Amino acid sequence: MNDPAAHRQGGFIRTLPLLAKDLASDLTRMLFPACCPVCHRALVKGENLLCLECRWKLPRANYHLTSDNQLLHKLVDINAPIEKAASFFFYKNSSPYSRLIRDAKYNGRPAINRELARTFARELRPTGFFDDIDLIIPVPLHWFKRLRRGYNQTEYIARGISDITALPVSYNLRAGKSHSTQTHKTGKERRTAALLDVFKVIGADELDGRHILLVDDVITTGSTILSCARALHGGVNDLRISVLSLATTRLGQ
Ligand SMILES: [Zn+2]
Repeated sequence: MNDPAAHRQGGFIRTLPLLAKDLASDLTRMLFPACCPVCHRALVKGENLLCLECRWKLPRANYHLTSDNQLLHKLVDINAPIEKAASFFFYKNSSPYSRLIRDAKYNGRPAINRELARTFARELRPTGFFDDIDLIIPVPLHWFKRLRRGYNQTEYIARGISDITALPVSYNLRAGKSHSTQTHKTGKERRTAALLDVFKVIGADELDGRHILLVDDVITTGSTILSCARALHGGVNDLRISVLSLATTRLGQ
């Protein structure tokens, strides 16, 4: 049994399936290369979701790193206080990076959100952002829209954060009425929509005394997040809310 030649041979034989697996994986990559959703270039080995250049050039918002967090200022509501707010990158319709959000939302690729959320959570974790958070709640989608789309893209963001932080994901918010897609609305229409009480809390007792991380894909006017925050503060006696989104428009846009 101690014959080194036999051991080497055994090792080589044991390694064969792994080599075959690597070869198959390389072949699949050559035949069906995954593409970077931002620049559409084929990804090479070691690149995950984004190519290295697009990952490097991602227009990070970094509001959470500033002493005067402008994203938090955008979300001020005396009846629905928000404690912390962070957004990964800037969203602009003309930017190729907005394809990430659109592909995840409309083109059947919600896994993009999970991967982006993992990346952002890895960056946020050392800042202590998650330290006093108890659970993650994704902004809900009306059941009919969810049925039509087949998924809720914000749930993938919640799962991505949970992958890195091990925080539980909870579904205590329901979208009570259909709220039409905000992307196609004017600022005035969005503000009017914000007046509608479209979200309701399910299982309020479970949230009592908790610090919730509310997650969404994009923050534009902040009306959706504030509607959720109002519903939560209105339905639960004692809770704290912080906010995370993958993208946000630049302040003043
Ligand atoms: Zn790229």
